[in-house]
Amino acid sequence: MFNGKNKALTFSYDDGVYQDARLAEIFNRYGMKCTFNLNSGLFSPENRWEYRGADCVHMPLEDIKSSLCGHEIAVHGAFHLDLTALTLEEKKAEIHKDKENLERLFGVPVHGMAYAYGAYDDESKAVIAECGIKYSRTVRPTHSFDMQSDLLAFHPTCHHNDEKLFELAEKFLSLPAQTPAIFYVWGHSYEFDGDKNWDRIEDFCKLMSGREDIFYGTNTEVLVK
Ligand SMILES: [Zn+2]
Repeated sequence: MFNGKNKALTFSYDDGVYQDARLAEIFNRYGMKCTFNLNSGLFSPENRWEYRGADCVHMPLEDIKSSLCGHEIAVHGAFHLDLTALTLEEKKAEIHKDKENLERLFGVPVHGMAYAYGAYDDESKAVIAECGIKYSRTVRPTHSFDMQSDLLAFHPTCHHNDEKLFELAEKFLSLPAQTPAIFYVWGHSYEFDGDKNWDRIEDFCKLMSGREDIFYGTNTEVLVK
């Protein structure tokens, strides 16, 4: 199913901040693929905030291009707005504009999305489908590896800080190679700085890497057939 394999591991990280570069370097070292969800209206270090003492600063376009090369980029809303608070026209501007910007600036087709704040409604899903986006991630953990039919509200297996992360990892590794299964981890790279736990993602990648029966792919490679 995934390059002849039945088990797949994929990652989804939001906001396009400087810590994404460090995270991408870790993924590269372990042969992992990630989808980075970007806000094309905020590609400037002027857009910054703080998380538990860590600076969260949006990368300018050139730095995103150089550091996230080899991974997938996807829509996260042009200005990181809560879609459920917007009118239909505002939703279209926030989503369609972000997809157009990303495709123009990066020169690649964009197939995916992650909901800012995890917020969505039926109207958001319709707006997303209308512009050809194939999947969009929520923030609701399933603690499961099952296939899902509604890709426009795709629920991740868990966040990287989930207390069950390593328990799930062992369970995933012990699944028979013929079992169709997707392990989908999401988060924000700046959380590793604020929570002082970069070792957590490093340990996770180390544990999961180099397995014959696992396909390491971007969200689109794993979810969109
Ligand atoms: Zn976000």
